[in-house]
Amino acid sequence: MSDSIMITVDKLNKSFGDLHVLKDIDMTVKESDVVCLIGASGSGKSTLLRCLNFLEMKDSGKVIIEGEQIERETHDLNKVREKVGMVFQHFYLFPHRTVIENVVDAPVHVKKVPKAEAIKHAEELLRKVGLIEKKDVYPSKLSGGQKQRVAIARALAMKPDIMLFDEPTSALDPELVGEVLSTMKELAEEGMTMVVVTHEMGFAREVADWVVYMHDGQIVEVGHPKELFHAPKEQRTKDFLDSVL
Ligand code: ADP
Ligand code: MG
Repeated sequence: MSDSIMITVDKLNKSFGDLHVLKDIDMTVKESDVVCLIGASGSGKSTLLRCLNFLEMKDSGKVIIEGEQIERETHDLNKVREKVGMVFQHFYLFPHRTVIENVVDAPVHVKKVPKAEAIKHAEELLRKVGLIEKKDVYPSKLSGGQKQRVAIARALAMKPDIMLFDEPTSALDPELVGEVLSTMKELAEEGMTMVVVTHEMGFAREVADWVVYMHDGQIVEVGHPKELFHAPKEQRTKDFLDSVL
């Protein structure tokens, strides 16, 4: 693990109208860290993740990606997003394109990678997520777990330095959760920097370097999984864990 800082969030605030959703959020993510964000629904986890790849813009505070303070006025957000990949709860694959066409789309059309090179990389990624034999099928022929693994390959095709996951397994049938989590675990073991919103406490316990517990727009507690799950310092963390474990 390296000491290089990939993400710094400094006093981030975000409101939707009168609703103050993120309140003075501070966070640091180092290279190869796996940070799991946990907390009740509505606590602001998705909004925080969306602020990290600029699908939402903060009201105040700083978001620093690999040393650069990102502002709408000074940065091409599409370029920044190439460094920060995101996988959502619902997989938005293009239904009329095959699996491999889905994976090469952004590298070819956004990054202008030569098609042959993009295909070669896409094949490596599909092999990595265990779906090379599905490369020429259409998404409708895939299970939810397979679709989500294609979505992961598609995000990786842009060669991001950081991967964000927003409840990537919550829309899946229970028997399909494991295959997606093991793909994510492999990615973590390869050293990818990851921020993962999840309700899978087993995954957080096993894979996270840090667990961040959010409540009502604030970070209540940050700890190594061992500490946070077994000896939470804050009563609110304890109450939340009691309700989910
Ligand atoms: P979580 O992911 O922890 O469930 P969210 O970040 O999705 O929480 O939402 C935090 C709060 O912000 C919720 O009350 C939600 O209804 C509200 N919210 C999220 N996105 C929007 C939006 N685009 N417009 C208005 N309110 C929103
Ligand atoms: Mg959410």
